[in-house]
Amino acid sequence: MSEERSQALFESARRVLVGGVNSPVRAMRAIGREPLFIAAGEGAELIDVDGNRYVDYVCSWGPLIAGHSHPTVVGAIEQAARAGTSFGAPTEGEVILAEEVRARIPSAEMVRMTCSGTEATMTAVRLARAVTGRERILKFAGAYHGHVDALLAAAGSGVATGALPDSAGVPPAVTAATIVVPWNDAQALRSACSGSELAAIICEPIPANMGLVPAAPGFLELISEQARANGALLIADEVISGFRVARGGAQELLGLRPDLTTLGKIIGGGLPAGALAGAGELMERLAPCGDVYQAGTLSGSPLAVAAGLATLALLDDAAYGRLARATALLAEGLRAAAGDHPVSVVSVPGLLCLFFAPAPPTRLSEVSACDLAAHARFARAMLAEGIYPPPSQFEAWFLSLAHSDAHIERTIEAARRAFAALGA
Ligand SMILES: *Cc1c(COP(=O)(O)O)cnc(C)c1O
Repeated sequence: MSEERSQALFESARRVLVGGVNSPVRAMRAIGREPLFIAAGEGAELIDVDGNRYVDYVCSWGPLIAGHSHPTVVGAIEQAARAGTSFGAPTEGEVILAEEVRARIPSAEMVRMTCSGTEATMTAVRLARAVTGRERILKFAGAYHGHVDALLAAAGSGVATGALPDSAGVPPAVTAATIVVPWNDAQALRSACSGSELAAIICEPIPANMGLVPAAPGFLELISEQARANGALLIADEVISGFRVARGGAQELLGLRPDLTTLGKIIGGGLPAGALAGAGELMERLAPCGDVYQAGTLSGSPLAVAAGLATLALLDDAAYGRLARATALLAEGLRAAAGDHPVSVVSVPGLLCLFFAPAPPTRLSEVSACDLAAHARFARAMLAEGIYPPPSQFEAWFLSLAHSDAHIERTIEAARRAFAALGA
């Protein structure tokens, strides 16, 4: 397939956009190729500027759980835009969306909307510090919580992909109060918690920014226990898992009760949005009720709220059943297609990862030890077959309600050929 127009656009882009992109992973450096420029999306498919079609397993990194250009989501955005794009004053939609969040997530009594997941986690950290009067934050290696200075330590995902251990430009004083513990390491968690007074423990309950590395049995319970015993708040970063793995996110699926929850991606239905939510008594420390400042010119954007509400309206029990079934079908098919190749497929409803390792990794160091070169060759081969997997071993595959059995069949057939080419 021709990539002539993508190549020409990338050449122009590199002169005016840093690295030719507006977010690093899009550059596809981790799989040793140049990006495709996208012209449109339809359901589960992407169409690039050369007219090539791909079955999309990135789905804008999570927001598009209903698929691309879903008619009711696009209709809701159009209708909202005609009424005015932004007012800097409250609107009815924000109330309805907050009520919908609360109905799905019992721990989310009150909501503050932001424009991104990063802002939600940044606010969560500030609020936790104010509420507890403490500074230290415990995070897990390989968990990504957006590009918040204090949380850019062992941050997985785009950071791991770029092979940057941390980011330059973050003063050591800012990360000095951040403690990083390996995921699924009970001993390290216990000793870190006994050694210091923490403002919060922040975790992705289903980490999906180092591939997909669910908690070992008992580990989430231990996190809750340790947070409580320490007097720290528990922050569940559900920017990916929220509204994806279940109606009420990972906390419903896994029986977790966090103090604060951060949301993003699906809540904006493909437009920029995030949210922080939690118990009323905590949330009311935020301005204008309390002394913790937080604001945003476009927070609660009427367009993003309309897209989020339209997306959530599609996500009923039947939809989650379909998504879970599609994910299981793809996981089984990829395992079968891999044959004797030393790979492992990990999945939860709506998310999947194909690790180039003989056993599923349990922490970041094991993801880093995957055969990244084989992954890169496989991902390039899949693109050539018309399948668009995440272009990094450190990213999860995202499924949508638009992925049909036929899309999944095509993906498994393509994987069979891509594995065969790897062996050759
Ligand atoms: C994507 C992501 C964020 C950051 O959200 P942005 O909207 O990209 O700022 C935070 N936490 C997790 C778990 C994420 O996956």
